[in-house]
Amino acid sequence: MEINLTQLTSGSKVQIDFDCSLSPDDNQVKEARLIAWGPIVAHGKIYLVDKDFYCYLELNYNYTKSCDRCLEPMSQMVSYQATILLKDKALADSYDATETDRTDIDVGFYQNYFYNPEQDIFDYAYLALPQKSVCDSECKGICSNCGCNLNTETCDCADEVIDPRLEVLKGLLD
Ligand SMILES: [Zn+2]
Ligand SMILES: [Zn+2]
Repeated sequence: MEINLTQLTSGSKVQIDFDCSLSPDDNQVKEARLIAWGPIVAHGKIYLVDKDFYCYLELNYNYTKSCDRCLEPMSQMVSYQATILLKDKALADSYDATETDRTDIDVGFYQNYFYNPEQDIFDYAYLALPQKSVCDSECKGICSNCGCNLNTETCDCADEVIDPRLEVLKGLLD
């Protein structure tokens, strides 16, 4: 998807709206350690402030991965918003990220007044993946001893593990 930014510089538009839907490929799903991912549904708008192009992005997607505690597959929705300052790629080498005093603004690049948002959309979608995913905040996880799923099964392992302090007492009683 290539967006022609001259629509803004010529004044024929004050804002460019775009919608797209990206499906990460199998490798990207694997690299992100997911079972399934996407499609990543994006809505964006690009506008001009003084001489700078800004792109506001809104992302929504669903992902499936193994619960970090019980390892059962779980799905979750993610929503994410970002505002990107678009820079001319031809000037990218001379551009120093420390020059901008706006640290809350991310940077993307356009080429010959065409901007392709797909890589940025994918990068932000990746960034927005939660560090930890649990099927339920109450998920009990798996038993560290026998590996059974404590949400659906019960085991006697906890009973068999004797507190070392009790072990001392037990020794005294013997
Ligand atoms: Zn779980
Ligand atoms: Zn167990």
